[in-house]
Amino acid sequence: ESAEPPATVPPVRAARGTGLSCLGWQQEGALRMLMNNLDPEVAEHPEELVVYGGTGKAARTWEAYHAIVRTLRTLKDDETLLVQSGKPVGVLRTSEWAPRVLIANSHLVGDWANWEEFRSLEKRGLIMYGQMTAGSWIYIGSQGILQGTFETFGAVARKRFGGSLAGTITLTAGLGGMGGAQPLAVTMNDGVALCVEADATRIARRIERRYLDVAADDLDHALRLATEARDARRPLSIGLEGNAAEVFPELLRRGAPVDIVTDQTSAHDPLAYLPVGVTVDEWRALAAADPAAFTERARASMARHVEAMVGFQDAGAEVFDYGNSIRDEARKGGYERAFAFPGFVPAYIRPLFEEGRGPFRWAALSGDPKDIEATDRALVELFPDNTHLHRWLKMAGERVTYEGLPARICWLGYGERHRAGLRFNEMVASGELSAPIVLGRDHLDSGSVASPYRETEAMLDGSDAIADWPLLNALVNTASGATWVSLHHGGGVGMGRSVHAGQVCVADGTALAAAKLERVLTNDPAMGVLRHTDAGYPHASEVARERGVRVPMNEG
Ligand code: NAD
Repeated sequence: ESAEPPATVPPVRAARGTGLSCLGWQQEGALRMLMNNLDPEVAEHPEELVVYGGTGKAARTWEAYHAIVRTLRTLKDDETLLVQSGKPVGVLRTSEWAPRVLIANSHLVGDWANWEEFRSLEKRGLIMYGQMTAGSWIYIGSQGILQGTFETFGAVARKRFGGSLAGTITLTAGLGGMGGAQPLAVTMNDGVALCVEADATRIARRIERRYLDVAADDLDHALRLATEARDARRPLSIGLEGNAAEVFPELLRRGAPVDIVTDQTSAHDPLAYLPVGVTVDEWRALAAADPAAFTERARASMARHVEAMVGFQDAGAEVFDYGNSIRDEARKGGYERAFAFPGFVPAYIRPLFEEGRGPFRWAALSGDPKDIEATDRALVELFPDNTHLHRWLKMAGERVTYEGLPARICWLGYGERHRAGLRFNEMVASGELSAPIVLGRDHLDSGSVASPYRETEAMLDGSDAIADWPLLNALVNTASGATWVSLHHGGGVGMGRSVHAGQVCVADGTALAAAKLERVLTNDPAMGVLRHTDAGYPHASEVARERGVRVPMNEG
């Protein structure tokens, strides 16, 4: 490993308040969000620069991190810093409208795009795994995924359980950075969640952050707690220490009364999935010593894990893959029916993507929670008829514990996001907010990702694997004035399986920021409308027509 030993690395924490250590707020925004990604409150393993999602990193090495920080502090308003897989490689003269930072992470040429090749390059210090928002500096802790997970379980509730999860039990695994949002999303939908997690420290962390209610002593205790809460129609989330590849089959064998089953272990990276028979303490050393043998063991365990999920589906449960590629890994582990259940995007999320709706997020560079409270209120005023949004904002305000800089997420679509951005920029200018706001999003968005096992699974026209769209998305955001733009490979579902882009804008209250925000936050979700119109989704075409998104092939 090229990272310095943990003992020499001070904890990183972004500055708060209005004092600048850069030449302007655009650069300062990037600097604070990079640092925020590595804040021990935010990152899963900050000493190794790992933010979330298995090994998703914010910078390649500590040396590279310090060089990025140093460069951002001297970067001018017409200069652009280039970051190649977490290492700063150049500063070029561009223009005020150009991004201050351009980031490319983890790209490999098609035939080389696999974990084996990636790891051999990583070992030589040449590349870094950027995941989605880790290497693009807009991860905001588990809240980032909370709304998406809340929306997904809400859609499950509407599809199968009359609009609420009250009186149901959801079985899942993985309480990491993303997976940790599951228990709270289930209880926000009034259900009971039973969450299997191999690493007891992750269970403790989710309880401490109020994402998880209780830890069970053992399987019997977990089942008793779950059924009692279900019978009382009382929301409850339960963490159970164990290996999902053992616990899921055992629950199936016992005929446990489970209504919904999914999983959010880090299955996309077989070295980040714990095989049966390996302890958490042995995990890293074993994976490093013989990655090929470890991968084989992990896949064999995933085959048993997924076999049990299919068993629950056969028994009538609602089962879905939650975007970690566990079906493909289980298939590689020799289980043939791995794709018997769908991915969550075609099952629940695509209609939202057709409207350019996706996980829009922002963070207060002041560090003051009052700024986020003010933005929450502003959104309620801006979208007075959106009661679903109001419900989310109210619950988020009451139940979300901030990790790092105070931040908020909500799903907004085409024609909505730029209004929010412009309003926030006005609030910065008028002093209603105490410092600038950064506005960005997950790469898991409507028009920013090609990922055939997740966001673009089962597209209407079969265009699942076409990666032109995320490339166009990054180019469009660059051309429209985003403050930093990133283009990644392999996030979410692993090497060879995805290409995706991100953008972040700094609303610093200036007229220039307003002009940029209006374009970026209009054009970025427009890519989702265009992508789905092109694939033949009638609702997307309707949205394009009604809201004035130009589609040349539909004109004339
Ligand atoms: P993470 O690495 O922070 O956490 C994964 C957790 O799974 C860890 O706590 C680990 O101990 C646990 N785990 C591993 N093997 C296990 C096993 N056999 N049994 C029980 N627990 C086990 O990862 P994360 O950020 O939480 O992401 C989880 C997965 O979700 C990743 O594959 C990621 O790419 C994917 N993801 C999904 C979405 C989505 O919207 N659905 C979004 C982002 C990421």
